[in-house]
Amino acid sequence: MVVLQQKRGILLSFPTRESVTPRPKSDSCLECNRLDAAYEAVIAEINAIVRGPFPSVGEKLTRLFQKQDERDRILAQLYSHKHKVHARNTA
Ligand SMILES: [Zn+2]
Repeated sequence: MVVLQQKRGILLSFPTRESVTPRPKSDSCLECNRLDAAYEAVIAEINAIVRGPFPSVGEKLTRLFQKQDERDRILAQLYSHKHKVHARNTA
């Protein structure tokens, strides 16, 4: 209780970004939503490949590596986008 009150007091003493923008950014940015959805999709595909049966281990690994590359590309896009569009107090 005491800690919460102290935190609230600290927050109130500084103007927050939330007071300027009423809505959470993640809900209002189509590009974030698109990349988040793409990331979720590729993770689901990776999980399906890991669990699923394949004719050969080599084929399974090839598919897995392809999806991992895809995931890394999406993550890179997501970080890049967030840095460019949603950069806050980062240097
Ligand atoms: Zn965004």
